[in-house]
Amino acid sequence: MLETVANPPSSPTPNDTKRGAIGLSGITRIFAGTIPAVDGIDLDIEAGEFFTLLGPSGCGKTTLLRMIAGFEAPDKGRILISGREMQNVPAHKRAVNTVFQSYALFPHLNVADNIGFGLRMRGIKGPERTRRVNNIMELMQISPFAKRSAAQLSGGQRQRVALARALVNEPEVVLLDEPLSALDAKLRNELQIELLRMQKRLGMTFIFVTHDQHEALVMSDRIGVMSKGKLQQVGPVLDVYEKPRNIFVAEFLGLSNIWPIQPSGGGIADTPIGRLQISSPIGSERMAMIRPEKIWIYNDSQTPEDRPNVFRGTVTEAIYMGASTQYRIETAGGHTILALDTNNAAAERSWRQGEAVSVELKPDNIMLIEG
Ligand code: ATP
Repeated sequence: MLETVANPPSSPTPNDTKRGAIGLSGITRIFAGTIPAVDGIDLDIEAGEFFTLLGPSGCGKTTLLRMIAGFEAPDKGRILISGREMQNVPAHKRAVNTVFQSYALFPHLNVADNIGFGLRMRGIKGPERTRRVNNIMELMQISPFAKRSAAQLSGGQRQRVALARALVNEPEVVLLDEPLSALDAKLRNELQIELLRMQKRLGMTFIFVTHDQHEALVMSDRIGVMSKGKLQQVGPVLDVYEKPRNIFVAEFLGLSNIWPIQPSGGGIADTPIGRLQISSPIGSERMAMIRPEKIWIYNDSQTPEDRPNVFRGTVTEAIYMGASTQYRIETAGGHTILALDTNNAAAERSWRQGEAVSVELKPDNIMLIEG
């Protein structure tokens, strides 16, 4: 469920280059007891950036968003929006529009009037208001419901109205808390792309909260992965997925094989599955990680004998997922390797349970991470 809070446009900022930028330093919120819900968050979000806060339920994402919006006050730390200190600025005076999980559309207004309400409050006249409302309704695929009352909509339709109501104001910053959660997969995919296009076209800053890793990967410029009130890693999508810093990030964002390592010099490390040659210099990290899709699988007879990191095994599980198949392969030493293969060949050429195969873990594909 979504709640939209339509705020007036911001007054001119001291520094125009910062319009829409967010600066957080040392943000902490402790509700009860001593465990902080949000724990010392330092984060700079650039103007026009699509930034996603990703993390499991209860990690503090919503609390952080509510503090940026002004619905919750931090116990410690500073929040800057568009270069302005927010400590004494109430929610309705902040240059942000918020789309929350729980929302209230005006039940006595129809869809178009719900969406146009904020524009009307700002004194935007009839024809211009109608044009903007119609545009956003088309984008959100809700034009056919324009004259219905909010009560006559499904949950997914209401979510789209709530989104439209926030976006039609073209605010500098839009805060979105799981705004697509009530939509079916097809509509969700379509709206992800539409939202992204719109955000880029209008140059708004989006802070998007989700626990859906796929959504985070598709939409974001950068991701901040949160756990227990802290940011575990912040970076561009590609970096965070390809080079997770630690086990939590690796496992939260995608599937992974992770083994402890004992370095034995010359780029070689001993692991439970055997000796691995690793391209990256081995520093203080004590874990090796490889994504399942980066593992090569061969027929037992095609085993590339002359290359490093090749292990023989048996397929113990094959889960067909349409575009790809996920395999569990047990090595001779009894360790399981998770591998993912694109189904780009005829179905009868995929691997079957019980089949003898070999896998190759190319040294470049192995990442070193912290525990
Ligand atoms: P979800 O994805 O389930 O919405 P979240 O990551 O957004 O989770 P928050 O809602 O920010 O998590 O909650 C963080 C922690 O703070 C949780 O342990 C939650 O129980 C606690 N919490 C949140 N709001 C309050 C409150 N008003 N009073 C007391 N504890 C709270």
